Amino acid sequence: MQTEASPALRHAVDQLSGASIEAPGLIRVPLPTPTLPPATTTNHWIVGHRRAVLVDPATPHPAARDRLCGLLAALNRLGTPIGGLLLTHHHDDHVGAALDLRRRLDLPVLAHPATAERLRGRIPVDIEVHDGQVVAEDADGTTWTALHTPGHAPGHLVLAHSRSGVVVAGDLVAGEGTILIDPRDGRMADYLASLTRVAALKPTLLAPAHGPVLTDAVGVLAHYRRHRLQREARIAAALPANWTAPDALLPAAYGDVSRLLWPIALRSLLAHLEHLREQGRATEQAGRWRAAAGPDEAADPHEFDA
Ligand SMILES: [Zn+2]
Repeated sequence: MQTEASPALRHAVDQLSGASIEAPGLIRVPLPTPTLPPATTTNHWIVGHRRAVLVDPATPHPAARDRLCGLLAALNRLGTPIGGLLLTHHHDDHVGAALDLRRRLDLPVLAHPATAERLRGRIPVDIEVHDGQVVAEDADGTTWTALHTPGHAPGHLVLAHSRSGVVVAGDLVAGEGTILIDPRDGRMADYLASLTRVAALKPTLLAPAHGPVLTDAVGVLAHYRRHRLQREARIAAALPANWTAPDALLPAAYGDVSRLLWPIALRSLLAHLEHLREQGRATEQAGRWRAAAGPDEAADPHEFDA
């Protein structure tokens, strides 16, 4: 079994205000980032013990970066060397410090090929991480494996522990705020499949990129899935037989959400409309949408070319 964190490790972590040991081989360092409100920080997770990675180096603030580097140096002295900077996906509030820390700490950047593609010309990805790849190791030889979980972003990765059921979840779920599926980056069908895939692991703890850890891991994943499908059912019910602009559906689909959030809700609504189209339940023409008339029309391939 995994041994408890040593007093020296606890002391090092305590030096950084807000940092905490959440599980063996899992340290949470929330640092300020320009993220989606109400969240104001991104968790910089230090994952692994014998061989560790820093997940989502993101803070743009030099003082916060200095504090983080101080902790990493202390961990190195205590036998936990950081072997790389792992990006769960390409969004700014997950990668903002990657270039600086790569240079400063002489560490490789690790990410999925689809993330590398999105970051091309901005942040070099030194090591491409594929589904099923082990990226970190704990003191007892147990490991952390990257799982490709697209939906929020095409190259999204989570890290699953080989024994404890802990999953470092990136933006698959949030401990604070919500997860936006924006069709510019994301795909609802993939997101729902990723929720199902991670739920099938029967995780015991989710360590999200924003907010505190989630202990009812299976319940949270089921709730996220149910919530999305309920929202989609409302959108499908609101979709008229005549062509309509997507924002005209907002009052019916997102009437329970503050109008201030409707510009963001519209992105999510579009992701649901795309999903409804993939299921043959909605049709689009020049940015306007209507309900698919029936199974015959939905099955007509020309309808999809329109
Ligand atoms: Zn994101």
